[in-house]
Amino acid sequence: MAPSLKNGLRHLLRRAAPGDAPRLSDDVRLAMIADTLFDAVFVHVDGWIVELNRPFEEMFGYRPEEAVRLTVFDIFASEYHDLLVDKIQGESTDRYEVVGVTATGEGRHMEVCGRTIPYGERTARVVAVRDTTERKLAEEQVGVLAFQYAADLTTVSEVARRLPRTADALGAREAICEGALAVCDGMIAVLMEPDGTGHLVSTAVAGADAAPMHVPIDAEGAATARVFLSGEPYFVADLTGEQGLSRRVVDKTGAVSALWQPVLQDGRTVGVLLVAWDRELAHLSDRAAAVVGLFAAEAAVAIERADVLARLDELNGTLARQVEALRLSDQVKSDFVSSVSHELRTPLASILGYLEILTSEEVGELTDLQSEFLDIIETNSHRLLTLIDDLLTLAGLENGKLAMRLEAFDLSELVYGGIQAERPALAERGLEIDLQLPADPVQINADTHRLGQVVDNLLANAIKFTPAGGRISVRLTEAEGLAELVVEDSGIGISPDDVGNLFERFFRAGSATEQAIPGTGLGLAISKGIVEAHGGAIAVTSELGHGSTFTVLLPTSA
Ligand code: ADP
Repeated sequence: MAPSLKNGLRHLLRRAAPGDAPRLSDDVRLAMIADTLFDAVFVHVDGWIVELNRPFEEMFGYRPEEAVRLTVFDIFASEYHDLLVDKIQGESTDRYEVVGVTATGEGRHMEVCGRTIPYGERTARVVAVRDTTERKLAEEQVGVLAFQYAADLTTVSEVARRLPRTADALGAREAICEGALAVCDGMIAVLMEPDGTGHLVSTAVAGADAAPMHVPIDAEGAATARVFLSGEPYFVADLTGEQGLSRRVVDKTGAVSALWQPVLQDGRTVGVLLVAWDRELAHLSDRAAAVVGLFAAEAAVAIERADVLARLDELNGTLARQVEALRLSDQVKSDFVSSVSHELRTPLASILGYLEILTSEEVGELTDLQSEFLDIIETNSHRLLTLIDDLLTLAGLENGKLAMRLEAFDLSELVYGGIQAERPALAERGLEIDLQLPADPVQINADTHRLGQVVDNLLANAIKFTPAGGRISVRLTEAEGLAELVVEDSGIGISPDDVGNLFERFFRAGSATEQAIPGTGLGLAISKGIVEAHGGAIAVTSELGHGSTFTVLLPTSA
């Protein structure tokens, strides 16, 4: 080994402690080290190569006697020459990349690193060179692969995006088969799914005609069944000798290669996507397998989505039919209540008529006891009449047959009249009343009789459900085309659980029934129906034990 390379290496290598040093001469030891390096090493003086190691010979393909006639410009590509000069002049110790040129003229990627060393009277550069061509290629390949996979992902997501998002279960399955063909560039795609009776049946086909397929899940040797049970894909490059697919299908379609891809949903196989090609595919690359697997996962989502939507559609249909049936039965019930009430009204009118004759003593004088009994009959007959009238009103409101006779009037007068009528009851129960009416009339266009019923019901309730000594406040205001009537009492109140049901027919709050306060639970249902028939609204707020506030809003006509 030449002395300068020895010097150079000595300069570069840290020597082992003298006690550990092998008993070899420095020359031999350094030559061995230089030759066993992975890197090529050479020394040049002003660019002239003067020494080199064995890896240099292998890397550049020059014999030593040829190499020592070369300059650095011969072994590195010309576009790097300026860079080389800079590095040499600047005595740089950086690592940098260049393209080396071998004896056969082949360009190789190289990484170099130099260092200035003493060389007799002069200085030289010792340069280590590493061939990075393979690494570069590998890096490029990774880049290309990453690019290809990104393109695959784009294709799959594009196709998956076109899968329908509707309740059309069959349409979604057909789109899946079409998508599989697009992704695989195949000739025919068939989706096989369990039919719930131990068979896998074809639920959609795309690309070519195929008779319906039907495979028992436990069929020995059938590829579809095997893939369904194992959840593992199965690829056949040449279907000629394949037992797992019926000859009929192969011959009819002209399939040459085929792939059975399981469709997995949460780790469970829900179907098998069979894709066939009319040309021979030598093998299914990992990349193609990954793409099909990815698409199958999208298909599983699409199938589930379509099935859920279809089921939802079906449920919606059932619900709509049930609602219609309920509406009809409600209608039948309202009509029934209405006709029965009418029938009851006639005999009751007759009872009341004869009662009047009896109480007027036109047909004979009555004893005190007889009068008392007739009073009881009269009271109850009137209660019955009120109940029948209420039922008729409610049925009329429900089936939209209650005639409204609209006329213009002042709502203040109606409210005032209502209070006046209740004065005796208020006095009897020792209730204080606070009435606030606006100075100007509150003009509305409504059915006086029906709105009178609402006012009477609210007042009667306030009186009925407020213990003696309590207070009732009635306020009427008008603003922005709306009349607002508030009836507030300091009575027994209503529990929060009951408030929501208050306007249901026959509903009576616990606070009323527990104290055995009489009533039918029809008044508020009727009031709500009447108010709403006038385009208004009614609401309540209440606190159990502290009182209730009923508010009615009605559009004014002014
Ligand atoms: P009725 O008064 O004949 O029971 P309503 O339909 O007028 O029927 O009222 C329904 C229920 O609402 C009453 O039974 C009662 O429980 C409750 N309610 C109505 N008004 C009041 C009120 N002012 N205070 C307390 N509870 C009331």
